[in-house]
Amino acid sequence: MVYNSIDEVKDSYDVVVIGSGLGGLTSANRLARAGHSVLLLEHHHQLGGLATWFKRQGHIFDISLHGFPYGMVKTCRKYWNRAIMDSIVQLKNIRFENPQFSITTTFDRQDFANILHRKFKVEHSVIDDFFNAVAGMNFYDDRTMTTGELFEQFFPGRSDIHRLLMEPITYANGSTLADPAITYGIVFSNFMNKGVFTFSGGTDRLIGMMVDEVEKNGVTICTRARVEKIIIEQGRVRGVVAAGRTIAARAAVSNGGIVNTINKLAGREAFPADFLNSFDTVKVNNSSCQVYMGIRAGETIPDIGDLIFTSKAPEFSSAEMLDP
Ligand SMILES: Cc1cc2nc3c(=O)[nH]c(=O)nc-3n(C[C@H](O)[C@H](O)[C@H](O)COP(=O)(O)OP(=O)(O)OC[C@H]3O[C@@H](n4cnc5c(N)ncnc54)[C@H](O)[C@@H]3O)c2cc1C
Repeated sequence: MVYNSIDEVKDSYDVVVIGSGLGGLTSANRLARAGHSVLLLEHHHQLGGLATWFKRQGHIFDISLHGFPYGMVKTCRKYWNRAIMDSIVQLKNIRFENPQFSITTTFDRQDFANILHRKFKVEHSVIDDFFNAVAGMNFYDDRTMTTGELFEQFFPGRSDIHRLLMEPITYANGSTLADPAITYGIVFSNFMNKGVFTFSGGTDRLIGMMVDEVEKNGVTICTRARVEKIIIEQGRVRGVVAAGRTIAARAAVSNGGIVNTINKLAGREAFPADFLNSFDTVKVNNSSCQVYMGIRAGETIPDIGDLIFTSKAPEFSSAEMLDP
């Protein structure tokens, strides 16, 4: 059931999920399937969080989820349903357009290795060593090396290659050449595994299908319901205060951002000092800038790619999504 007033929901649930982004929707679905009574509270009037869209002059523009790695297929099989999983399709024409090069690629290891060899004249052995080094990275590695240093090690002085390698990952996770190489390696390797995928029908369709599924599994959803406080007594969650109303719960899952959740919703006093010390080192990343283009029905752009990366300066990237 989807309500848009907090007055409509019950007084008590097993779990309150705060925020209906992809994380909140997935948590709510999983918890409901495990047999818990779940209330999903969303501040906004629309569900989906950053996975959102807007309409202009008959066009629907997706804000995000233009491209993601193949891993999303497995995630949707595990946490959602067959119809959602089967709607994930590969984008085969990824285009890079900038003053240093113009490239179309399927953005997988084989194609990228060919491009690095043929267009950028890099030896096969260097390309293999780079891919193997990046694929072998994990979260427990030495994190002192930056992405810029990693690129210099394999492709010294090659700003064109640095740009080719960095631009799509900056778009995906906002990381820069100055960030630890691990922030680059994991995302790049995930894409290079099988290429770039998207959701057929767009983000509005995906969120609609997810909302149908959480409703089917018994989740109560309420929009326009900002959680102001997670009530914690003697180290245990007792409920939340949302839009002025108190709802009892044995647990809360917050999708409302780590900084906001710890500093404001729960309050720092709810956490031990060593946890807060680690939390204070968390750096919340920036996102990227996008330009949206709408094409009238019947109009075409010759040789258009599925997802285009264009940029003017190496440290600045933007992606333009065109209807796949
Ligand atoms: C411009 C852009 C492009 C992107 N492109 C891609 C892409 O191509 N591929 C890809 O994989 N990812 C992409 N992403 C990233 C992806 O969209 C996000 O990582 C994902 O949607 C985040 O989901 P989330 O659940 O973590 O958080 P969010 O989507 O941020 O959800 C948080 C939700 O919590 C709600 N909330 C917060 N506080 C409260 C409160 N106190 N009470 C009630 N509700 C609250 C918010 O309103 C929001 O709905 C892009 C993101 C952006 C911004």
